[in-house]
Amino acid sequence: MNRFTQLYQQRKAQSTTEFVGRGARRARCPVCQVRQDACICASAKLQPSGCGFALVMHTKEVLRPSNTGRFIADIVADTHAFIWSRQEADEALLALLNDPQWQPYLVFPAHFAEPERVTETLHHGTTKKPLFVMLDGSWREARKMFHQSPWLSSLPVLALRPDQASSYGLRSSPLKEQWATAEVAARLLAMNGDTLAAQSLQQRFEDFTQATLAGRCH
Ligand SMILES: [Zn+2]
Repeated sequence: MNRFTQLYQQRKAQSTTEFVGRGARRARCPVCQVRQDACICASAKLQPSGCGFALVMHTKEVLRPSNTGRFIADIVADTHAFIWSRQEADEALLALLNDPQWQPYLVFPAHFAEPERVTETLHHGTTKKPLFVMLDGSWREARKMFHQSPWLSSLPVLALRPDQASSYGLRSSPLKEQWATAEVAARLLAMNGDTLAAQSLQQRFEDFTQATLAGRCH
């Protein structure tokens, strides 16, 4: 059971109402949340990578079948998941951010942060491995988490430019302005040179999108 699945089980146990997503009447695979006959669990396979991820999730996002952050935990072994709280930082998250083996980056669009915090590349000349902190929720929730988390305000902000997509050899819709969490993570993996993991994650995201669209049109 990966970190996301642990968090999901925990959150589900606390939840008194069942999340009713689109197509909820059809039986879903309890793991990948896709229609059972289109289950994509087989492609959940860990790939080698030289970086880690910390998913800081809005409490509502954890149970959403549309969530794609969970696919990162299927591919990258060093994936940690936390539920965000406005009141206080998670102790385990703080310990992770302060762990000397990691160089944390808060992944967020450049124009929300002070320019001196923003970087578009990874710091080189360090033995620390990149730890990508992803704020996972709707866009509105992510912005709220960004602005209301003082414990993240000292981290460098890593911003991806939309035109960077193709240079990583990953397919991307040119018309799309907002990427799903898994797509952003695939780009970060590619940026770090973890090509196989990047491709696997991108593929997993596309399989999920396909299966979900097929389910809706069914
Ligand atoms: Zn499945």
